[in-house]
Amino acid sequence: MLKYQVTRNPNPRSAAERAAILAAPGFGKFFTDHMVAIGWDKDAGWHDAQVRPYGPLSLDPAASVLHYGQEIFEGIKAYRHADGSIWTFRPEANGARLQRSARRLALPELPVEEFTESLRQLIAVDADWVPGEPETSLYFRPFMIATEAFLGVRAAQQAGYYVIGSPVGAYFAKGVAPVSIWLSEDYARAAKGGTGAAKCGGNYAASLLPQQEAYANGCSQVLFLDPVEGKYLEELGGMNVFLVYRDGRIVTPELSGSILEGITRSSILQLARDRGLQVEERKVSIDEWKQGVASGEIAEIFACGTAAVIAPIGELKGKGGFSIGDINAPAGEVTMAIRKELTDIQYGRLPDRHGWLHKLSD
Ligand SMILES: *Cc1c(COP(=O)(O)O)cnc(C)c1O
Repeated sequence: MLKYQVTRNPNPRSAAERAAILAAPGFGKFFTDHMVAIGWDKDAGWHDAQVRPYGPLSLDPAASVLHYGQEIFEGIKAYRHADGSIWTFRPEANGARLQRSARRLALPELPVEEFTESLRQLIAVDADWVPGEPETSLYFRPFMIATEAFLGVRAAQQAGYYVIGSPVGAYFAKGVAPVSIWLSEDYARAAKGGTGAAKCGGNYAASLLPQQEAYANGCSQVLFLDPVEGKYLEELGGMNVFLVYRDGRIVTPELSGSILEGITRSSILQLARDRGLQVEERKVSIDEWKQGVASGEIAEIFACGTAAVIAPIGELKGKGGFSIGDINAPAGEVTMAIRKELTDIQYGRLPDRHGWLHKLSD
């Protein structure tokens, strides 16, 4: 394991400032007093692990991440339990995914145990930044960038791995409410053979223009279709999608090579199986969605990811003014039951029967 050098922030936020932030943190706006940084180069491998004051990175303007986008990231939370202890959820799955993303982006693979340790190191100095109100958490943003100062086009021989932490409030401040989503027919988020299955900034860059189109049409998220035929559901810009049938089946698009394999998605598949629901991972066409909602055969649709956990989808809108679903209908029962079960496990209110929780601090 890497040995960390810990440098305390000489000017941390005061307890009063921190309390004011934690009372209304929003999402991704505020950051803790410290960060983790680990260096890598081709010869020395991983080295120089640090916990240091949160602050700007110093990058050479020729650093390849700035030119060729060699970057990957993760998203994972720390949850405070009723007894004050701090836990995270399936970190070995996020660590393994960071390794898969690294392979695809030709970045170095951080050992999974070092990934989990990097989260623990941040909590060791910033535990007070983990809020305790219901549905709040500390969101970790681990990321890796190519830092080599070289404009030649090849995998960088120098990289940096960092973890920052951001306290986040309840995603649905006024209670879970269905969202409207926009069907993107002009743009795909990922290509066949591309980087869709890797968690990389480039996929998000490609999703921002369609995301603007969604906002302009009163929707909060974009639904992308497969990049080859433009016919089958893939996912939203940053969340996977599920359909619940009236007959009790629960269906999600199968991993296609361009879908990001969510850890929330995989946890929901497990909880649905545990409930005795029939689970299907297969191709789902957009026509199946439209016809199923119109006929009532599809009873509930939801999106899922670490940030929102589960967001019910009330309505799908798209080009030509079509709209399907009822945004005023309440969130579905299966959707809400699975959401409650998953968050109850994360916050320690239900037994952790799958061994998903990992303690970061007493
Ligand atoms: C992170 C992400 C998800 C959700 O993954 P979780 O592990 O459940 O948070 C889904 N789609 C994309 C494109 C993502 O980047």
